Amino acid sequence: MASTIITILRRREYLGHTVNFKTTKASYDSKRVIHNDSDAQVVFENTHPAIINQETFNRVQQLRSGKRRKSKSGRVEPFSGLVYCADCKSKLYFSAGACLKENQDYYVCSGFRSKKVKCAHSHYIRVAVLQKLVLNYLAKARQYTQQHEADFVRLVRQDSAEQTQKELRRSEKQLAQWQDRVTELDTIIQRLYEDSVHGKLSDERFVKLSQGYEQEQKDLHVQAEELSQTIAAQEEQTVNVERFLKLIRKYSDVTELTPAMLHELIERIEVHTPDKSSGQRVVKVDIALSYIGVVSRLDFAALDAAEEASADGDSAGRQNLREVLGNLGKPLRFRPC
Ligand SMILES: [Zn+2]
Repeated sequence: MASTIITILRRREYLGHTVNFKTTKASYDSKRVIHNDSDAQVVFENTHPAIINQETFNRVQQLRSGKRRKSKSGRVEPFSGLVYCADCKSKLYFSAGACLKENQDYYVCSGFRSKKVKCAHSHYIRVAVLQKLVLNYLAKARQYTQQHEADFVRLVRQDSAEQTQKELRRSEKQLAQWQDRVTELDTIIQRLYEDSVHGKLSDERFVKLSQGYEQEQKDLHVQAEELSQTIAAQEEQTVNVERFLKLIRKYSDVTELTPAMLHELIERIEVHTPDKSSGQRVVKVDIALSYIGVVSRLDFAALDAAEEASADGDSAGRQNLREVLGNLGKPLRFRPC
């Protein structure tokens, strides 16, 4: 039964595509069916009406990749597949040893002890602290979308437009650098050719050098082509605030974190290196909401303060609220333990 459902969830045919060469046989009289990897399959897109959209399909695959397993102590990881290290981007490893009490369960960066990744910090965070923080964030988000939906939509859109612009500028700079190198290589190859003609360079040396430079040029062309496509995709990318609102509206009151709510509303959580400069251990945690990502302008503490002031009915408070909404919020901060 479970495997039937898994097969249904994976079927790209429901997206409206025809998928061929899914299986093969060692020979025509062999009875054993061999399942081909997705690279060996051929997909003809949009051959019939889709019954599920690409976004939902991608989300299902993402949710399925983060399986919920029980630890030795019998406790289930609450944020399975959602928590990552902000520095090395590795998954955070859930530790719930039998000798630990439930409120001592913690996460550490899986890249910290790995010889390959060598993350500089353990990124230790207690599960209970993370739960409290995420619950608080979602409750605030729910309350805010209920009371100021139009402001929420505007903040998210502004934030997204700014982030896209930043990424675009970075990609375009990289592209320009590669294009300069391609031009430079043209000149180098031209000179090599002239040196070869004038006998300054042996034929063997010329072939070896020019081959190396030509290969570099080819690689750069491929990389530049890929980056151009990414830039085009970035330009088209828009956040889907309405989709997120539709999801969060289902939860009239956020008082408890449920696995369904977590996986529906949250796309990813990133834990930063602790900052001890203030004398206290402060950990910044980025919470990326489904369909809209991390919204740096959503600083609920600042929004609350402004709200309180405006609730007193003074016009300065209203002004303050507008200022907060228009300014970049401080990063989300908290003090664990
Ligand atoms: Zn790390």
